[in-house]
Amino acid sequence: MTIAENVQHVQQTITAACAAAGRTDTVTLVAVTKYHTVAEAQAVAATGLVNLAENRPEGLAEKQAALTAPELQWHFIGNLQKRKVKQVINKIAYLHSLDRLSLATEIEKRALRPIDCFVEVNVSGEASKSGLSLAEVEPFIKSLADFTKIHVVGLMTMAPIDADETALHGLFKQLRLKRDAIAQLRLPYAPCHELSMGMTRDYRIAVLEGATFVRVGTALFR
Ligand SMILES: *Cc1c(COP(=O)(O)O)cnc(C)c1O
Repeated sequence: MTIAENVQHVQQTITAACAAAGRTDTVTLVAVTKYHTVAEAQAVAATGLVNLAENRPEGLAEKQAALTAPELQWHFIGNLQKRKVKQVINKIAYLHSLDRLSLATEIEKRALRPIDCFVEVNVSGEASKSGLSLAEVEPFIKSLADFTKIHVVGLMTMAPIDADETALHGLFKQLRLKRDAIAQLRLPYAPCHELSMGMTRDYRIAVLEGATFVRVGTALFR
């Protein structure tokens, strides 16, 4: 299949999942280009997708040098080291991997405007994954009250590779309930209306469970 056909297929899957869940809101498809060439990223952008994601500062710089259309929205989805914040933070629309106070402190220092951030949550508790535990999310977000450059738009998670459908529904639902609980706090700096969850393997289930941003790579490029 061509990239255009893949994009169409993923969008149809999202639309069908929204219908099945009785959803009338929109889901943003974020194209993850991290393992792919500049030419492939250009082909994805040519289909009309404007949300592109990278997980390394070097990859972001390479793609942004080649793809300069002003409508493009760049997402950073990887672990962001403190010393790389300066290089990345003013070049992105969204950071999906805010997971510690030291990172927030560095962003506060380097950002020229408030940055839309997702707090990353390790819902399953897998040892190999970054992200806060569900219990840590509320105290962490409350600790951001004095930061002027951190705008918490939502929560993000990655499901374990070996989770079956039932487990995926459970994990995504837990993140949705936590998102709802944070939104209820009505913190001005943390509206927390969004849910960044779902990758190639599991985006259909994530949409059924309320994802508003899905991060899809492999399914667009095979
Ligand atoms: C690589 C990556 C994705 C996309 O994964 P695919 O399985 O290729 O769709 C999504 N989110 C994060 C955080 C990633 O690192």
